Order: sequence, then structure tokens, then C-alpha cells
Amino acid sequence: MNSALAPRGSALLELSDARFENTFVRDLPADAAALNTRRLVLKANYTRVAPTAVAAPRLLAWSDALGQQLGLARPAATGPGTEVLAGNRVLPGMEPYAARYGGHQFGVWAGQLGDGRAITLGELIARDGSRQELQLKGAGLTPYSRTADGRAVLRSSLREFLCSEAMHFLGVPTTRALSLVGTGESVIRDMFYDGNPQAEPGAVVCRVAPSFLRFGNFQIHAAHGEAEELKRLVDYVMRRHFPEAGSLTAWFHEICRRTAVLMSDWMRLGFVHGVMNTDNMCVLGLTIDYGPYGWLEGYDPMWTPNTTDAEERRYCYGNQPQIALWNLARFAEALLPLMPKEDLEAGLELYGDVYQESFGRALAQKLGLAALDQEGDEDLLTGLFAVLNGVETDFTLFFRGLSSVTESGDDAQLVAPLRRSFYAETPAAHVARLAAWLRRYLARAARDGGSAAARAQRMNGVNPKYVPRNYLAQQAIDSLAEGDAAVLERLMKVLERPYDELPENDALAERRPEWARHKAGCSALSCSS
Ligand code: AMP
Ligand code: MG
Repeated sequence: MNSALAPRGSALLELSDARFENTFVRDLPADAAALNTRRLVLKANYTRVAPTAVAAPRLLAWSDALGQQLGLARPAATGPGTEVLAGNRVLPGMEPYAARYGGHQFGVWAGQLGDGRAITLGELIARDGSRQELQLKGAGLTPYSRTADGRAVLRSSLREFLCSEAMHFLGVPTTRALSLVGTGESVIRDMFYDGNPQAEPGAVVCRVAPSFLRFGNFQIHAAHGEAEELKRLVDYVMRRHFPEAGSLTAWFHEICRRTAVLMSDWMRLGFVHGVMNTDNMCVLGLTIDYGPYGWLEGYDPMWTPNTTDAEERRYCYGNQPQIALWNLARFAEALLPLMPKEDLEAGLELYGDVYQESFGRALAQKLGLAALDQEGDEDLLTGLFAVLNGVETDFTLFFRGLSSVTESGDDAQLVAPLRRSFYAETPAAHVARLAAWLRRYLARAARDGGSAAARAQRMNGVNPKYVPRNYLAQQAIDSLAEGDAAVLERLMKVLERPYDELPENDALAERRPEWARHKAGCSALSCSS
């Protein structure tokens, strides 16, 4: 490999010593005008545009894990490396660009969107040989900025940085985040959309993924009748990212399959993306664009963390698998010029089958069962969701606690390991109902054979103890805004081992405290970012 970065096992490199390639720029059509003015762009996949420098860049956080994987050393708080991560310095070999895409937002075609504040710097070859795009989010205006400012606030940037890395360690396909840089500039945001704009600290996140291509990058060509450009983009993504696919149909089916697996992962963990527009769906099947996301605390299929969606609840927890299918259908429509309708429809069907299969398996694993294929298992599941609905019950703590439940004649003792998952006083009738379900469950688990200890261990391997609850992220944001990075750093370290016990960090595995229920950023959030 002529452009390989550091060979495995060698010392970490400074960012400025890394080598970059630019296949996206080389292989795909550029916007003919290299002007950085807001406008409609046609027949192109990107516009060449440099990041806009910021006043006083300072490295606030760094992912050691991702740095290791890429072979990059943590740069000093201020200096040349951090300047690159802020967009103040473009290294030789980088060819920065903003991508053109469109999308359906909240069910309606929105036309051209594009990277309005994200700028890809180039493609780095990681230690494992993989090619990884480095993309700055909050890097300044691009032709796709529409009416916005090209910048991002610290709070939303920290949330993206934290959750990208947490998702990776939870085992969920995701874009990654390498760094969080404070800009030393403020950004004006009306966080509550109530006519009270405030100055807030600005930040830039360096996101990393093999590709950030979204359904919307393909849709925009279809919307403008750009058949040739559409074909070229599909060829590119197949060649670069799906070399094993072999045919257009196999490629589309693989995207359907990956999207189904992704939805199963979100649902098994209680992750709610919050803004599943088609421009926020990555064709590689990665979680992308962390905005007003959240984690189910009290189990409620209708819950959404996104206050902007509080009325319709289009993107609530329980809708996510259905919405992903809707998004795939819009994506499929964009691909109609390239392949038979029946093949696209078969992909959508495959999505349903793979989702059912994956989520069924995930539920079985959450319960420590080999499979949910025996007589009475449907009823067992119905009973499970009925008890979860009975009193407000923390989704994460309930499943984590389930592995500690042991046979007991006494209802109170049986239910004891689950008590910490209840948000409210638990009526005796609910305790009795839950205890009855637990007895059925334990009897069912016993029929699978194996020891209770082995089952508990398996369950703890899939039911995390630690997830980046919104109130924890908010505490990290408040501390960092005061100049203290320790809260974020501790949280990051713990979230690298979400399935481990780590008793010294029990405080990070509590249910959301009541003070956080209605506090801004601690449970629900607006789209303001
Ligand atoms: P999102 O809802 O965050 O996925 O963003 C939707 C579209 O708005 C994308 O095209 C973003 O690039 C763009 N956008 C969001 N925030 C900004 C901003 N502050 N400046 C420029 N474009 C933005
Ligand atoms: Mg987006």
C-alpha cells in the first residue's frame, strides 16, 4: 500500500505526518464553480471548500481509542495538530469538500440540504488498512449552509463526540469521533425556540467514518434527473465500500440488511436517534448525525427525546424500525432508474425479515435464552412488555437487573434486583404481577439448561450497565463549559466498558434523578445545535 500510514505496532504519528488520499474528490464530479456562496448546486457530488479558521482553537477532548486505531497521537491542547482539527490549517494532501445531498425531512422532500457545516478534509489510511474520512463538523459556511451559520455549539458537539464513541463500544455500527475542539468563538442559538437567542461557546468535532454518504446523496440526483451522476455515485460506493456485493441488486439488499441490523441494535439498547430524516441515514448502515438523541429511561414506545417532534412523535422509539423501512423505500425510489422495481421491493422485504430475525435474537439474548421459539414464548414476551408498561421502569436497569433475579418464594425478594429500575412508588399489585412474570421467566430459562451463573454472564454481555444518559452528558457539558474536562473524561472511560461491572462507577449507572426529568438537555432536547 503506497500511502499506508503507520504499520501496525509502530509509534503513533502526529496528524501532520499522516498521509491522505482523496478518492471521493478524484472519482466523482465536482461542482463546476468552486465558489463558497450559498446556492443550488447541480450535477455534482461535492463542492471544494476550505474550513473557515476560528479565533482560538483548543483541544477539549480526544478519543484515545480511535487515535490508537488510526495510529494518531493526541495533539497538544494548542498547536499545529489542534489547528488542523479546528479547520485552521489544511495539511498538504488534503482536498477539503462539502458534499451535496438532499433528503426527506419529517416525511416531506426538502430538496437540497448538503454539508452545511461539515467539511471533509481527506481520507486517512488507518493502521488496520481501512480508509477513513476525517470530517470537521462546525467548520464554517459552505454552499449548502442555507440560512444557517456553518457553526456548532459546544453542548451538541460534546454530545456527538461522547455518543459516537459510546455506541462503538456498545457494539453498534456508527460514525466515530476523534476530537472535540473549542473554537474560542461564540455562536448565537435560540435553544428553546422561544425568541431568546443567547451566545454559547462554539466547537468543532472531527468525525471519522469510511464514508458519510447518506440516502440523500443518491436522492438528490434522482430529484434532478441526473441519471449519469447517479450511476457514477453508485459505481463509486460499490467499488469503494461494497467490493463483495457483485451486483446492483446485491448492493441494495446489503444496505437493507445493514439498516435492519442497525435498527435491531438501537431497539435492543433503547437508543432513540430523534431525527431519522433520509439525509441522516448512512448507506453503510452506520448511526450518523447525533442530534437530539436519547436513551429510553422509563420504558415508553412513544418516547422521543426531540422536543421538535413532541407533537407528531414520528421518530419515537417504537416507530424507528418502521421509519427506517420508509426511508429505504424513498432511497429505493431514487434507484429506480438503475434496477428492476421487483429487486428493490425484494430488498424492502428482506429488511423486514432481517429485522424480525435480528431483533428476535436480540430479545432472546437479553433474556439469556437460546431462542424465543418455544410454545409460550410469545406470551412470555407479551407479559414482559406488560410489566414494563405497568409502572415507569428504566429500560437499561431492568434488563441489567434481570440477570441477578434468583428463585425465591417471597415476591419482595424476587423483585428486589429490579427495584432500582422503578421511577415511582410500586403498588403491591404491580409487584405481584412482576413476581408472577419472573417465576414464569425463571422456569422458562431453567428449561434451556445451563447454570444460572452462566446465563447471568451472557446477559450482562448484552445488557449494558452504562449508557450515555442525557443527564450525564449534560453534566459533562456543564463541567466542560467551566473548563473542567474530568467529568467527560471519566464518563468516556467508563463508556469504553459498558457491559462491565466497574463498581467504583456505580453512580454513573443510576436511573435518571428526578431533578433531571424536565431540565433542559437532561431528558428531552430541541434540534438547536
Ligand atoms: P440536521 O437536521 O442536523 O441533520 O441538518 C439538516 C441540514 O441542515 C443539513 O444540511 C445540515 O448541514 C444543515 N445545518 C444544520 N445546522 C447548520 C448550521 N449551523 N449551519 C449550516 N448548516 C446547518
Ligand atoms: Mg444531518
